[in-house]
Amino acid sequence: MSFSTDPYSWIGSALETIHRADWYRSVKSVEGLPGAVVQLAGKPVINFASNDYLGLAGDQRLIQAAIAATQTHGTGSTGSRLISGHRPLHRELEQAIAHLKQTEDALVFSSGYLANLGTISALVGKRDLILSDQYNHSSLKNGAILSGATCLDYAHGEVAGVRALLEQERDRYRRCLILTDTLFSMDGDLCPLPDLLDLAEQFHCMVLVDEAHATGVMGPTGAGCVEHFGCTGRALIQMGTLSKALGSLGGYVAGSANLIDFLRNRAASWIYTTGLSPADTAAALAAVHTLQQDPQRREQLWHNVHWLHQTLPQELPLSSSTPSPFTLLPSASPIFCLQVNSPATVMNLGRSLLEAGIFASAVRPPTVPTSRLRLTVMATHTPSHLQQLITVLKSCLQNLLP
Ligand SMILES: *Cc1c(COP(=O)(O)O)cnc(C)c1O
Repeated sequence: MSFSTDPYSWIGSALETIHRADWYRSVKSVEGLPGAVVQLAGKPVINFASNDYLGLAGDQRLIQAAIAATQTHGTGSTGSRLISGHRPLHRELEQAIAHLKQTEDALVFSSGYLANLGTISALVGKRDLILSDQYNHSSLKNGAILSGATCLDYAHGEVAGVRALLEQERDRYRRCLILTDTLFSMDGDLCPLPDLLDLAEQFHCMVLVDEAHATGVMGPTGAGCVEHFGCTGRALIQMGTLSKALGSLGGYVAGSANLIDFLRNRAASWIYTTGLSPADTAAALAAVHTLQQDPQRREQLWHNVHWLHQTLPQELPLSSSTPSPFTLLPSASPIFCLQVNSPATVMNLGRSLLEAGIFASAVRPPTVPTSRLRLTVMATHTPSHLQQLITVLKSCLQNLLP
């Protein structure tokens, strides 16, 4: 074998392959405060591309809390919490999350991604089984791989598939863990949570639900899908992020006091990493308080969601009415996805929307199985923002029709 070529040259070829498939991604620069309208390349655009569902990331209550915490506690946490200690703020945030979720305790991680990696790999190992929804988030999938457990995917949302796998496989393993997003971020639909919990009880399985997109959004108090489905208090492990509706950065796990105590001793992605910064911690705490003190935010969000649910199918040229390459995927949330026939089409659609002042994400494989335009609604979108979306989207879709 000859090693004369540059050992890094394959990277250039790999990039070319990505370009050829229309899978290449690049990042857009956003200026100014986050919100329903943001500046892209100096031009204001209506923002349907964020996960800031309640518009809290640019909210003065969070900004002031972050500034105050920085002035009192400094910018960094200076080390892992077990080695360098933590701030009372960290525990306050954990207790506020536990209160929101009605669990005994909670633990805050540096990100939701790290919460999943650390928790899954602490809960199961080589002798164990994981059953995972095929559309689960990357952090659940990679947590499963890291754990070394046998991981079997079930068809998206199919309880019968989970049951069949449990009947076939459960006896051969020590522990079993069922993993699912509660609100699927690239589709907008919900997992069949009550049925999954019943199956888990019957087959002695643990369940970990990822409430990343549901926290602050779903349920009468914004506690998430567990609350939405009336499953509060049932045995399960809830994780989520502080970075979406809560407008900050970080992740959490909520559950029994024993679970949280165990994770503090066994979750490597919590033990061996620096604690959340004072600013992020204080902003998230202010967000949890805002959720409780300002329920109108969520009411406004759902008002906007219901309006779009009614209006999109009426106004757009979609496949249900006439033959069309565009399908609106079923959604029960502020996430609306318009499935499109190819990566090139969705990129064109994204570009023409942007030219007309609408910022929406064009999502392609390998993130999702089929290309789609993903639109997220915010509490702070005005009726005129939503009307502009409809007008622009309608005309862009008509231009793309054969
Ligand atoms: C965003 C997201 C995460 C990761 O959370 P971060 O705090 O952004 O790392 C995990 N799971 C799901 C379903 C997500 O959408």
